Amino acid sequence: MKKIIVANWKMAPASFLGAEKRFQAIKRTANKVRGVQTVICPPMLYLGELAKNVTGHRLLVGAQNAFWNEEEAHTGEHSPDMLVRAGAKYVILGHSERRALGEPNEMIRAKVTACLASGLTVIVCVGEQERDTQGNYTKFIANQVRQSLPKKAAKKRLRGDLIVAYEPLWAIGKKAKRVASVEDAVEAMILIKKTLVGMYGKSATTIPVLYGGSVNEKNAREFLEQETIGGLLVGRAGLDPERFSLILTAMQKKK
Ligand code: PEP
Repeated sequence: MKKIIVANWKMAPASFLGAEKRFQAIKRTANKVRGVQTVICPPMLYLGELAKNVTGHRLLVGAQNAFWNEEEAHTGEHSPDMLVRAGAKYVILGHSERRALGEPNEMIRAKVTACLASGLTVIVCVGEQERDTQGNYTKFIANQVRQSLPKKAAKKRLRGDLIVAYEPLWAIGKKAKRVASVEDAVEAMILIKKTLVGMYGKSATTIPVLYGGSVNEKNAREFLEQETIGGLLVGRAGLDPERFSLILTAMQKKK
Protein backbone atom coordinates (compact mmCIF):
# COMPACT_ATOMS: atom_id res chain seq x y z
CA MET A 1 0.00 0.00 0.00
CA LYS A 2 1.22 3.49 -0.90
CA LYS A 3 1.88 5.79 2.04
CA ILE A 4 0.01 9.08 1.85
CA ILE A 5 2.04 12.09 2.97
CA VAL A 6 0.15 15.36 3.23
CA ALA A 7 1.57 18.85 3.81
CA ASN A 8 -0.95 21.20 5.39
CA TRP A 9 0.39 24.68 4.67
CA LYS A 10 -2.36 26.34 6.73
CA MET A 11 -2.29 30.16 6.21
CA ALA A 12 1.24 30.26 4.77
CA PRO A 13 3.37 31.28 3.00
CA ALA A 14 2.50 34.97 2.85
CA SER A 15 2.94 35.34 -0.93
CA PHE A 16 2.06 33.30 -4.00
CA LEU A 17 5.67 33.51 -5.15
CA GLY A 18 6.80 31.81 -1.97
CA ALA A 19 4.16 29.13 -2.43
CA GLU A 20 5.18 28.47 -6.02
CA LYS A 21 8.87 28.18 -5.12
CA ARG A 22 8.12 25.69 -2.37
CA PHE A 23 5.73 23.75 -4.56
CA GLN A 24 8.27 23.37 -7.37
CA ALA A 25 11.02 22.33 -4.97
CA ILE A 26 8.82 19.67 -3.34
CA LYS A 27 7.60 18.52 -6.75
CA ARG A 28 11.13 17.70 -7.85
CA THR A 29 11.39 15.12 -5.05
CA ALA A 30 7.76 14.00 -4.90
CA ASN A 31 7.65 13.08 -8.59
CA LYS A 32 10.60 10.74 -8.09
CA VAL A 33 9.49 8.92 -4.93
CA ARG A 34 7.80 5.60 -5.47
CA GLY A 35 5.30 4.17 -3.02
CA VAL A 36 4.30 7.59 -1.71
CA GLN A 37 1.30 9.73 -2.64
CA THR A 38 2.28 13.29 -1.86
CA VAL A 39 -0.43 15.88 -1.30
CA ILE A 40 0.09 19.60 -0.75
CA CYS A 41 -2.79 21.53 0.78
CA PRO A 42 -2.01 25.24 0.23
CA PRO A 43 -4.17 28.21 1.16
CA MET A 44 -7.30 28.37 -1.00
CA LEU A 45 -6.06 31.52 -2.78
CA TYR A 46 -3.09 29.64 -4.27
CA LEU A 47 -4.73 26.28 -4.90
CA GLY A 48 -5.93 26.76 -8.48
CA GLU A 49 -2.63 28.18 -9.73
CA LEU A 50 -0.54 25.52 -8.01
CA ALA A 51 -2.79 22.76 -9.34
CA LYS A 52 -1.86 23.89 -12.86
CA ASN A 53 1.75 22.94 -12.05
CA VAL A 54 0.89 19.34 -11.22
CA THR A 55 2.49 16.88 -13.61
CA GLY A 56 1.81 13.19 -13.19
CA HIS A 57 0.04 11.62 -10.23
CA ARG A 58 2.66 11.39 -7.49
CA LEU A 59 2.09 14.94 -6.25
CA LEU A 60 -1.49 16.18 -6.02
CA VAL A 61 -3.15 19.21 -4.49
CA GLY A 62 -5.79 19.44 -1.78
CA ALA A 63 -7.86 22.04 0.05
CA GLN A 64 -7.91 22.71 3.79
CA ASN A 65 -11.68 23.12 4.06
CA ALA A 66 -14.90 23.09 2.02
CA PHE A 67 -18.52 24.06 2.44
CA TRP A 68 -21.26 21.45 2.56
CA ASN A 69 -23.49 22.54 -0.26
CA GLU A 70 -23.48 24.12 -3.67
CA GLU A 71 -26.01 26.94 -3.06
CA GLU A 72 -24.65 30.34 -4.00
CA ALA A 73 -25.71 32.37 -0.96
CA HIS A 74 -22.78 31.50 1.33
CA THR A 75 -20.40 34.44 1.56
CA GLY A 76 -16.76 33.49 1.90
CA GLU A 77 -17.25 29.77 1.37
CA HIS A 78 -16.05 27.36 -1.34
CA SER A 79 -18.18 24.50 -2.59
CA PRO A 80 -16.75 21.02 -3.16
CA ASP A 81 -17.42 21.32 -6.90
CA MET A 82 -15.46 24.59 -7.04
CA LEU A 83 -12.51 22.85 -5.43
CA VAL A 84 -12.69 20.02 -7.93
CA ARG A 85 -12.78 22.49 -10.83
CA ALA A 86 -9.78 24.33 -9.37
CA GLY A 87 -7.82 21.07 -9.46
CA ALA A 88 -8.09 19.80 -5.88
CA LYS A 89 -8.13 16.04 -5.48
CA TYR A 90 -8.09 15.99 -1.68
CA VAL A 91 -9.62 18.02 1.12
CA ILE A 92 -8.75 18.17 4.82
CA LEU A 93 -11.87 18.43 6.99
CA GLY A 94 -12.29 18.81 10.73
CA HIS A 95 -8.75 19.98 11.41
CA SER A 96 -8.38 20.81 15.11
CA GLU A 97 -7.78 24.49 14.29
CA ARG A 98 -11.18 24.61 12.56
CA ARG A 99 -12.82 22.61 15.34
CA ALA A 100 -11.40 25.21 17.77
CA LEU A 101 -13.26 27.89 15.78
CA GLY A 102 -16.48 26.09 16.60
CA GLU A 103 -16.97 23.46 13.90
CA PRO A 104 -18.93 20.64 15.50
CA ASN A 105 -18.83 17.00 14.41
CA GLU A 106 -22.22 17.31 12.67
CA MET A 107 -20.95 20.13 10.46
CA ILE A 108 -17.85 18.14 9.60
CA ARG A 109 -20.02 15.17 8.70
CA ALA A 110 -22.08 17.34 6.33
CA LYS A 111 -18.88 18.57 4.68
CA VAL A 112 -17.49 15.04 4.39
CA THR A 113 -20.70 13.82 2.75
CA ALA A 114 -20.75 16.71 0.27
CA CYS A 115 -17.07 16.39 -0.62
CA LEU A 116 -17.32 12.63 -1.16
CA ALA A 117 -20.29 13.19 -3.46
CA SER A 118 -18.17 15.63 -5.49
CA GLY A 119 -15.43 13.06 -5.94
CA LEU A 120 -12.85 14.54 -3.57
CA THR A 121 -10.75 12.30 -1.38
CA VAL A 122 -11.53 13.38 2.14
CA ILE A 123 -9.07 13.48 5.05
CA VAL A 124 -11.02 13.72 8.30
CA CYS A 125 -9.00 14.80 11.35
CA VAL A 126 -9.73 13.47 14.81
CA GLY A 127 -7.76 13.56 18.05
CA GLU A 128 -8.02 14.14 21.76
CA GLN A 129 -6.98 17.23 23.69
CA GLU A 130 -5.36 15.31 26.53
CA ARG A 131 -4.57 11.74 27.51
CA ASP A 132 -6.15 10.93 30.85
CA THR A 133 -5.11 7.93 32.93
CA GLN A 134 -8.67 6.55 33.02
CA GLY A 135 -8.63 6.16 29.24
CA ASN A 136 -11.56 8.50 28.56
CA TYR A 137 -9.70 9.79 25.53
CA THR A 138 -10.43 6.55 23.72
CA LYS A 139 -14.17 7.21 24.01
CA PHE A 140 -13.60 10.76 22.80
CA ILE A 141 -11.73 9.61 19.69
CA ALA A 142 -14.25 6.88 18.86
CA ASN A 143 -17.10 9.41 19.24
CA GLN A 144 -15.40 11.91 16.97
CA VAL A 145 -14.99 9.22 14.32
CA ARG A 146 -18.61 8.08 14.62
CA GLN A 147 -20.02 11.60 14.56
CA SER A 148 -17.77 13.25 11.97
CA LEU A 149 -18.12 10.57 9.30
CA PRO A 150 -21.24 9.61 7.34
CA LYS A 151 -23.28 6.83 8.95
CA LYS A 152 -23.23 4.88 5.71
CA ALA A 153 -20.70 4.86 2.94
CA ALA A 154 -20.71 2.98 -0.35
CA LYS A 155 -18.06 0.28 -0.52
CA LYS A 156 -16.28 2.01 -3.37
CA ARG A 157 -15.86 5.09 -1.18
CA LEU A 158 -14.06 2.98 1.39
CA ARG A 159 -11.51 1.98 -1.20
CA GLY A 160 -9.59 5.20 -1.33
CA ASP A 161 -11.94 8.17 -1.05
CA LEU A 162 -11.97 8.31 2.72
CA ILE A 163 -8.94 8.85 4.95
CA VAL A 164 -8.80 9.50 8.69
CA ALA A 165 -5.95 11.48 10.24
CA TYR A 166 -5.21 10.93 13.91
CA GLU A 167 -3.85 14.19 15.29
CA PRO A 168 -3.64 14.32 19.10
CA LEU A 169 -3.87 17.99 20.02
CA TRP A 170 -1.13 17.67 22.64
CA ALA A 171 1.33 16.72 19.90
CA ILE A 172 0.46 19.39 17.31
CA GLY A 173 2.12 22.68 16.51
CA LYS A 174 4.50 25.00 18.34
CA LYS A 175 2.76 24.40 21.67
CA ALA A 176 3.06 20.61 21.47
CA LYS A 177 3.76 19.03 24.86
CA ARG A 178 5.61 16.15 23.24
CA VAL A 179 5.70 14.12 20.05
CA ALA A 180 3.46 11.09 20.21
CA SER A 181 5.37 7.85 20.45
CA VAL A 182 4.83 5.24 17.78
CA GLU A 183 2.98 3.23 20.44
CA ASP A 184 0.65 6.17 21.20
CA ALA A 185 -0.12 6.54 17.51
CA VAL A 186 -0.63 2.85 16.79
CA GLU A 187 -2.87 2.40 19.84
CA ALA A 188 -5.16 5.19 18.65
CA MET A 189 -5.12 3.90 15.09
CA ILE A 190 -6.22 0.43 16.11
CA LEU A 191 -9.08 2.05 17.99
CA ILE A 192 -9.99 4.20 14.95
CA LYS A 193 -9.86 1.19 12.63
CA LYS A 194 -12.08 -0.84 14.98
CA THR A 195 -14.55 2.05 15.12
CA LEU A 196 -14.60 2.27 11.32
CA VAL A 197 -15.22 -1.48 11.02
CA GLY A 198 -18.06 -1.10 13.54
CA MET A 199 -19.57 1.58 11.31
CA TYR A 200 -19.00 0.23 7.82
CA GLY A 201 -18.10 -3.43 8.15
CA LYS A 202 -14.95 -5.33 7.27
CA SER A 203 -14.23 -3.41 4.07
CA ALA A 204 -13.40 -0.41 6.27
CA THR A 205 -10.08 -2.01 7.19
CA THR A 206 -8.75 -0.53 3.93
CA ILE A 207 -9.41 3.07 5.04
CA PRO A 208 -5.97 4.63 5.57
CA VAL A 209 -5.33 6.23 8.95
CA LEU A 210 -2.58 8.86 8.97
CA TYR A 211 -0.61 10.21 11.90
CA GLY A 212 -0.14 13.96 12.40
CA GLY A 213 1.60 15.95 15.14
CA SER A 214 5.16 17.30 15.13
CA VAL A 215 6.26 14.98 12.34
CA ASN A 216 9.71 15.88 11.08
CA GLU A 217 12.55 14.51 9.00
CA LYS A 218 13.98 12.69 12.05
CA ASN A 219 10.88 10.84 13.27
CA ALA A 220 8.99 10.29 9.97
CA ARG A 221 10.52 6.92 9.26
CA GLU A 222 9.55 5.27 12.55
CA PHE A 223 5.90 6.18 11.93
CA LEU A 224 5.99 5.19 8.26
CA GLU A 225 7.48 1.78 9.09
CA GLN A 226 4.31 0.80 10.93
CA GLU A 227 1.88 -1.11 8.78
CA THR A 228 -1.08 0.34 10.70
CA ILE A 229 0.01 3.88 9.83
CA GLY A 230 -1.18 4.78 6.35
CA GLY A 231 0.89 7.95 6.12
CA LEU A 232 1.50 11.33 7.66
CA LEU A 233 -0.18 14.72 7.96
CA VAL A 234 2.58 17.29 8.31
CA GLY A 235 2.23 20.89 9.47
CA ARG A 236 5.36 22.98 10.09
CA ALA A 237 7.87 20.70 8.35
CA GLY A 238 5.63 20.60 5.27
CA LEU A 239 6.38 24.23 4.50
CA ASP A 240 10.12 23.67 4.31
CA PRO A 241 10.91 21.92 1.01
CA GLU A 242 14.18 20.49 2.30
CA ARG A 243 12.66 18.99 5.43
CA PHE A 244 9.52 17.82 3.66
CA SER A 245 11.58 16.17 0.92
CA LEU A 246 13.50 14.26 3.60
CA ILE A 247 10.15 13.10 5.02
CA LEU A 248 9.05 11.95 1.56
CA THR A 249 12.24 9.96 1.09
CA ALA A 250 12.51 8.73 4.70
CA MET A 251 11.68 5.12 3.80
CA GLN A 252 14.35 5.01 1.11
CA LYS A 253 17.25 5.68 3.44
CA LYS A 254 19.37 2.71 4.41
CA LYS A 255 19.33 2.04 8.12
C1 PEP B 1 -1.16 20.09 12.23
O1 PEP B 1 -1.41 21.20 12.70
O2 PEP B 1 -2.02 19.41 11.63
C2 PEP B 1 0.17 19.53 12.42
C3 PEP B 1 0.35 18.26 12.28
O3 PEP B 1 1.15 20.44 12.74
P1 PEP B 1 2.69 20.14 13.11
O4 PEP B 1 3.19 19.09 12.16
O5 PEP B 1 3.34 21.45 12.91
O6 PEP B 1 2.68 19.68 14.53
